[in-house]
Amino acid sequence: MSTFELPKLPYEYDALEPFIDKMTMEIHHSKHHNAYVTNLNNAIADKPEFTGKSIEVIMAEISKHPAAVRNNGGGHYNHSLFWTIMKKGGGGVPTGVLADEINASFGSFEEFKKLFATSGATRFGSGWAWLSVSGGKLVVSSTPNQDNPLMDVAEVKGTPILGLDVWEHAYYLKYQNKRPDYIENWWNLVNWDEVTRRFAEVR
Ligand code: MN
Repeated sequence: MSTFELPKLPYEYDALEPFIDKMTMEIHHSKHHNAYVTNLNNAIADKPEFTGKSIEVIMAEISKHPAAVRNNGGGHYNHSLFWTIMKKGGGGVPTGVLADEINASFGSFEEFKKLFATSGATRFGSGWAWLSVSGGKLVVSSTPNQDNPLMDVAEVKGTPILGLDVWEHAYYLKYQNKRPDYIENWWNLVNWDEVTRRFAEVR
């Protein structure tokens, strides 16, 4: 039976200040993400069909699994990615092959940012905005709840290389109802080296 673990954050809880506050990060990681991991492990306990399966493989066949695995497995995968694509002193613009591909796919980095931010801002209720590689191409999409583009049920499928959590728990303490302000500030945290690394891995 595979048992999943809460990954350590690659930085301190206060590292993303002032854009994401320490208390939000602490609750988000140690309570929310931790609960997804615990509930995922409970949902797959004593079920041999999950033995040895990676979270990515479980995502790809999610239509076969119960809602608890979809919600908590998605929550675990999504947050594990989210922590890595942010860093203190992030932001700026992507370079190299990723920059070229963004320009080719969306016209410019500014156009990409607009599309991605709108995708997150207009997601009704809770969900995520994504930049994914799909059939060698970059695509922007959003998903409800803890779904993601790896899932066989996703409207737009692909391998995510950048994701933005737009659940209220990700921003409400600091931004209240102003989700677009959270998104605008979040660009200052994006770890483009990590996004580029993920892009190179899957393209
Ligand atoms: Mn979250």
